[in-house]
Amino acid sequence: MEKYRFSDEALAALEMLQVPLAVYQSLDKLTVAVAVSQGFRDLLEYDSLEDAYRVMEGDLFSNTHPDDAARVAEAARRFIEEGENYEVIYRFRRRKSGDTRIIHAIGRHAAAEDGTMLAYVWYTDEGEYTPEAGELAPNLNKAINRALHEESLLQRNYYDYLTGLPSMTHFFELAAAGRDRLLSLGGIPALLFVDLSGMKGFNSKYGFSEGDALLRAFSQLLIRHFGRDCCSRFGQDHFAVVTRADDLEERLNELFRETAALNGGRTLPLRVGIQIYGKGVEEISAACDRAKIACDLGRNTYVSGFNYYDERLQEKITGRQYILENLDRALAERWIKVYYQPIVRNANGQVSDEEALARWIDPDRGLLPPSEFIPVLEDSGLIYKLDLYMIDRVLEELQRKREAGLVMLPVSVNLSRVDFDACDIVEEVRRRVDDAGVSRKLITIEITESVVGSNLEFISSQIDHFHALGFRVWMDDFGSGYSSLDVLQSIRFDVIKFDIRFMQQFDSSKRSRIVLTELAKMAIGMDIETVVEGVETRDQLDFITEVGCTKAQGYYYRKPNPLEEILERTRKGEAIRRESPDEEDYYAAIGAFNLYDPSVIMEVEDDRYQSFLDAIPMAIIEKENPEDRCLRILRCNASFRSFMGRVLGVRLPEESELKKHTLQEPPNGALKETLARCSASGNWVLIGEKKGKAGYSAHAFVRQISANPVSGAKAYAVVALTIPM
Ligand code: C2E
Ligand code: CA
Ligand code: CA
Repeated sequence: MEKYRFSDEALAALEMLQVPLAVYQSLDKLTVAVAVSQGFRDLLEYDSLEDAYRVMEGDLFSNTHPDDAARVAEAARRFIEEGENYEVIYRFRRRKSGDTRIIHAIGRHAAAEDGTMLAYVWYTDEGEYTPEAGELAPNLNKAINRALHEESLLQRNYYDYLTGLPSMTHFFELAAAGRDRLLSLGGIPALLFVDLSGMKGFNSKYGFSEGDALLRAFSQLLIRHFGRDCCSRFGQDHFAVVTRADDLEERLNELFRETAALNGGRTLPLRVGIQIYGKGVEEISAACDRAKIACDLGRNTYVSGFNYYDERLQEKITGRQYILENLDRALAERWIKVYYQPIVRNANGQVSDEEALARWIDPDRGLLPPSEFIPVLEDSGLIYKLDLYMIDRVLEELQRKREAGLVMLPVSVNLSRVDFDACDIVEEVRRRVDDAGVSRKLITIEITESVVGSNLEFISSQIDHFHALGFRVWMDDFGSGYSSLDVLQSIRFDVIKFDIRFMQQFDSSKRSRIVLTELAKMAIGMDIETVVEGVETRDQLDFITEVGCTKAQGYYYRKPNPLEEILERTRKGEAIRRESPDEEDYYAAIGAFNLYDPSVIMEVEDDRYQSFLDAIPMAIIEKENPEDRCLRILRCNASFRSFMGRVLGVRLPEESELKKHTLQEPPNGALKETLARCSASGNWVLIGEKKGKAGYSAHAFVRQISANPVSGAKAYAVVALTIPM
């Protein structure tokens, strides 16, 4: 149907009328204003004709008091669709003065010359509305009372009481009409399912009235973006929208931005699922279902975002079902296997820990990586079954490792956030470990950063509990979320694992390297060991060692492997050496020594010396045997490297080759004697002057930092000083 047009003269006459009057037409379930009078514009305080038509196009009931909006919309619907008369009294907040007027509206139908049915509505201003009305109270209260009475009789089938938006069933009709209208104009309709994510938590944090305020404010936002008749509240925090598909993503991003500023910032992120028309479903209700599935896919994220329903998603859903239906069987029949990835200490190149990673080896579908089943199990809350199963298998296999004569190393297991909700995970882990008769030091708990960020207090108490029982707890994926630093401030982790992203961006982003350097410094300052995940190249390994990260995990060393392969490698003598647990403290001390923070050596308060001190050459050297004359540099900073070249004329090999390289002590025996003094005193000792090249005189402070109880080796920190002569 076409929009009706008055002749120019008739329109001009109508628009000049001083009586508040508006003429509407119903176009495929959408009510549009065909003409409004001067009196109408004055009453509602529109700037101009265009202004009036524009605002009314988006929302016929804009500025209607929220408590009256649903009732007015319902009366209008009965008037337009069912041909009933229209008579409503409602409160209206004027656009400019901001005062609330009581409006009495009366409508009648009349046919235009060409037979088009038009609806004429006259408006009367019944005075100002104040909750405690004076003189006029009896009459007005009666009117309002009647209106409110009518409202309570209203079956809330068509409009949602809280927000004034069309209800679900009514929306199905409106949206079908809206969709057809878009199609007839050559557009592509899209159906959106919108979820205010985390409403339950919001209500319990701020109370229900604040929750209602947010829902109302958000509904107003939807109306502004899409028009009232194109939106619906399906109940709780779920909304649906029909709109055109073009520019959709930009428009959604704008909606996300505005939502973030809503209700004075007390708001929630949005998740949106999108079903584009013509991809298999035409029924609105079916389209809503699919949009909802796409929407639910975004669960477990804490930022606004959208997902499309498409074939890939369809496949994912079938995959999901398969995983959920077969989980118990996969556990019972041990289709799920533990793969171990070594974590290697940079100070000695030996394996210090292993991480247990799950692989689902399906008899029909082959190897499923964790990315296919972990998120499904997390969504459904079943991941605790897998995580506890993994612990059982790891404990069993520790026994097998012992029998095979392998050095027993701590194994990290991954826990999910949902584990903490699903059961008393700390107690479940403890019981399994104790029942297996395994030391609690041999099971390390990895918890990813986002988990902790989501509920700091609770998770923090759970981590305390793990610690009190003697388990070590590592923070996984550090740097992947927003909350990293907050979390570190409140929770003491034994080790921080830097997210794989730092290595993935290693070549492309200098920034990422700088951030990693700073974070490593920070960890050293906090006396926490660090693991870098995803190390694939020598360059990466050199870099992270130099900036002081203590351990590396990644394909550079090994991909995750099942126990059989580790045993096989060990038999063939191809395995990476496993660190003796007795040497752990020795190497941890070497790793923890901060080559970047000069306050280790002296208290510096004055910033002016900072840049000077930053450049102080520092190194850790090791003497394996006090009697021989060989030294090894285990770690050094960049200035030490240049010091060696510039002053002593010694070119040091790359970081990862350093440990293999031995240096000969000067023959006079002075160094040997000094080192012995260091070991005896435990203090800093000054090594005497050594004439360097190019007119420098070199000195060094040396202190023993650690001794290896197994090999007898000793490690010393060296701080070099050069004085030009
Ligand atoms: P994650 O805990 O961050 O594990 C590290 C992931 O990085 C592993 O992927 C590992 O194979 C991969 N990786 C290690 N080194 C490299 C490298 O050099 N290059 C590249 N490109 N990747 C590397 P995987 O095994 O696919 O596991 C993915 C995620 O699944 C894990 O991330 C963890 O969050 C989760 N996951 C795995 N097993 C379990 C489990 O038993 N329970 C729970 N809750 N989550 C698990
Ligand atoms: Ca992990
Ligand atoms: Ca990780």
